[in-house]
Amino acid sequence: MSRFFDPRYSGLAPYVPGEQPQDMVYIKLNTNESPFPPSPRAVAAAAEAAGRLQLYSDPEALALRREFARIFGLEADRVVFSNGSDEILYWIFLAFCADGAAFPALSYGFYPVYGEFTGTPCTQIPLREDYSVAPEDYYHLGKTVILANPNAPTGLALSAAQIEEILRTNPDNVVAVDEAYVDFGAESCLPLIDRYDNLLVVQTFSKSRSMAGARLGFAAGSRELIEDLNRVKYSTNPYNVNSMTMAAGIAALADEEYTRKNCRIIAENRDYTIAQLRAMGFFVTDSLANFVFARHPAVSGRTLYEKLRERGVLVRHFSREDIGDFNRITVGTREQMDILLEKTREILEETK
Ligand code: PMP
Repeated sequence: MSRFFDPRYSGLAPYVPGEQPQDMVYIKLNTNESPFPPSPRAVAAAAEAAGRLQLYSDPEALALRREFARIFGLEADRVVFSNGSDEILYWIFLAFCADGAAFPALSYGFYPVYGEFTGTPCTQIPLREDYSVAPEDYYHLGKTVILANPNAPTGLALSAAQIEEILRTNPDNVVAVDEAYVDFGAESCLPLIDRYDNLLVVQTFSKSRSMAGARLGFAAGSRELIEDLNRVKYSTNPYNVNSMTMAAGIAALADEEYTRKNCRIIAENRDYTIAQLRAMGFFVTDSLANFVFARHPAVSGRTLYEKLRERGVLVRHFSREDIGDFNRITVGTREQMDILLEKTREILEETK
């Protein structure tokens, strides 16, 4: 830390992204990316837009918002796009957390970092013993509620009806539902935004639309909430979405069939992987996301992570003590999952 760094941030523990090692080619199951490339239409649109990079991107993202409105059946002024959904989550902490924020004690690791960075008092609510979120813990909180649904890293989801009760009992606070993984099988809260002016639904193009490297996310909600998010956007970075990403996003939205097909394959591979891991003695949560969260009674999470890494398979191990026995494994192609399963069998044999 330099002597110039603002002492307000001296205690900050920044978010640690999953590793992106360059030393060899791994089967990369550690950062919940898609194993499939983006829609060919999105790739072509981005390449075409590259020829106009001398111009700033459209700060209003009008064409993208119009395409969103057409596909999702919402008005274009009910949505704002961002540089990855991480940017929106940061805006939410900047804009709506004057009363403090509440989120599960085990959830997306960026929430407490944004809380710390923005000086927001955060209440971290323990999960149930089975790692599920207890919706009643979020009733009448009087704080901004942030829920990843499905949750990460457990993959467990609440129903829209359960979230509706949280919205109803916190009418004076924003409830932000982070639906990064919703397309793999959980229920979206988007249909509720007409009925709840305190609801913000946040989604990303990083997972189901295979565009993690393009950085594109959005929030949908009441016109007033979206206006507020735009206030933050125009006070920080109006050209937050670059032109290539914007063009790719429009094309990806228009190719919903491609997205749906990939999500179906991932969901099948997930259920297959869960069944196979359980047959090997793993405890695995009932994930509805594009990852599984698994623990074996005979091998520590760290050991399994290290031994898989030696064999060219990268999974995510978290250093947090309470989940040290687990690994979070991204669901890839069937071939990738079969290699993971084969290497895991080998390791279990070896450590017997
Ligand atoms: N929310 C959750 C729960 C996530 O796991 C992630 C991805 N790490 C994000 C949001 C952010 O995704 P992105 O910024 O790529 O849209």
